[in-house]
Amino acid sequence: MSGKKRKISRRNFIKAAGVAGLGSALGALNSLAPAQGISAASVTESMTVPTRPFGKTGADVSILALGGELSASDLLVFRQAFKMGVTYWDTADSYGWGKNEKAIGKYFAKFPDDREKVFLVSKAGTSNPQKLTEKLNVSLIRMNTSYVDLYFIHHVSNVKKELTDEVKSWAENAKAEGKIRFFGFSAHKNMEHSLLAAAKLGWIDGIMMSYNYRLMVQNKLKRAVDACAKAGIGMTAMKTQAAFSANFYATIGSKTDDALKMTESFLNKGYTAEQAKLKVVWENPNIASICSAMPNMTILRANVAAALDKVKISSGDKKRLEQYARQTASGFCAGCASICEPLVHADIPISDILRYSMYYHSYGDREKASAFYNALSPDVKANIPKADYAKAEKYCPQKIQIGKVLKKTYEDLT
Ligand code: SF4
Repeated sequence: MSGKKRKISRRNFIKAAGVAGLGSALGALNSLAPAQGISAASVTESMTVPTRPFGKTGADVSILALGGELSASDLLVFRQAFKMGVTYWDTADSYGWGKNEKAIGKYFAKFPDDREKVFLVSKAGTSNPQKLTEKLNVSLIRMNTSYVDLYFIHHVSNVKKELTDEVKSWAENAKAEGKIRFFGFSAHKNMEHSLLAAAKLGWIDGIMMSYNYRLMVQNKLKRAVDACAKAGIGMTAMKTQAAFSANFYATIGSKTDDALKMTESFLNKGYTAEQAKLKVVWENPNIASICSAMPNMTILRANVAAALDKVKISSGDKKRLEQYARQTASGFCAGCASICEPLVHADIPISDILRYSMYYHSYGDREKASAFYNALSPDVKANIPKADYAKAEKYCPQKIQIGKVLKKTYEDLT
C-alpha cells in the first residue's frame, strides 16, 4: 500500500472523530487496517505470539495473556487464543462469580492435551490460609485441573499485613502438594510500595500490577519494577489502556491538536492507539506479559497483531503518548491511595471506588461495578456523600475531582 493511500487525512480523521470523544473515535478507526506492521486481518493460526521468561521461575510465558470474563459460550476465543500462542490465561475465583473458571474447565474437558501448554493463573481475594485452601480447591474443580501455574492473592495493597508468614507457609504447602507451581499477588493501588516490599520478601514468584503508558514513566514505579526484576519476580502488566475513571473525563484532550496528531500518527504508521499502548509496555523487557481482556475475536486478533508486530513505537510517538497522558491526567487514578485516603477524615477507599467508576463508565460493566460497590460496608457508603475531599484533591498528583467522581458513583450505584 502506498504511503499516500495509507495516510489518513486530518479532515477525514476529524470527520471520523465527529463530536464523540477520542475513545469512540479510536473505536471507529480500529477497522482501518495497520499499514506497515501486521494487520489484525492478516493474523493466521500459524502465527504464534512471542514468549518471555517469567522472572526466575524457569517458565516462559506468552507476552500477551488472555484476561477478562469469558463464559462457556466463548470457547472459540479460548481456542483461537491457544492456537495463536496466547497460552497465558488469567482468571480469578470471583470473575463472573466463577463463570470464567467454569468456562476454562469446559475448555480443558474438551481439549485436555492443551492443559499442560497453558500457563494458568487464578486469584483469591483473601490472605486467610484456610480460605485460600477452600477457594483454591473450588477453582481447581471448576477449571477441571489438578493445579494452577500461578496463584495470586487478589488486590493486595499492604504487603506487610497481607503477605504474612502464615501465607508464606500456605504457599509452600500448596506447592508441595502440587496444587500451585508459583505464588504471588495482584495490585491495583500503592503498587510501588507493594513491589518494593515484595522484592525484599524473597518468596514471591510473580506480580500482576496496573502498569501502563501513564504509570510506567513515574520514577517511583520504575525503581520498584527494577527491584522486582532484580529479585527475579515475574511481572505481568494489567490496565494497560489506562481507562478513565468517569464518563465526564472521556473528552478531555480529545479535541486538542496534540491528541488528534497522536492518533493520526499511530494510524499512519500502522497501529491503533490501543495497540500503541500495548507496544509501549512491551518495550520494558522486565514486563513478561500483558494481561488484556479480550472478549471477542476482533480484540484478540488486534492484540495478537500488536504482539507479533516488530515495528517499534517511535520516540516521537512515545512523546505524544506522554503528552496525551499529561493532558488527560485528571481522568485517570494512578492508584497512589497512600496520598489521598489519609487526607479524608472518613473511611473511604477512594482509589477502589474510582476503579469501580471506571468499570461502569469506561468498560460499560455496571454489573461488575455494582458488585464491587455493594461489597463496601454500609458505613463506607454512608461516608461517601458527606466527606470533605478538599485536601485529598489538593494533594492528588493527577488533580482528579475526587469528590465529584465519588458522589456521582454513589448516585449511580446506590
Ligand atoms: S485519587 Fe489521586 S491521590 Fe488518590 S489514588 Fe487516585 S491519583 Fe492517587
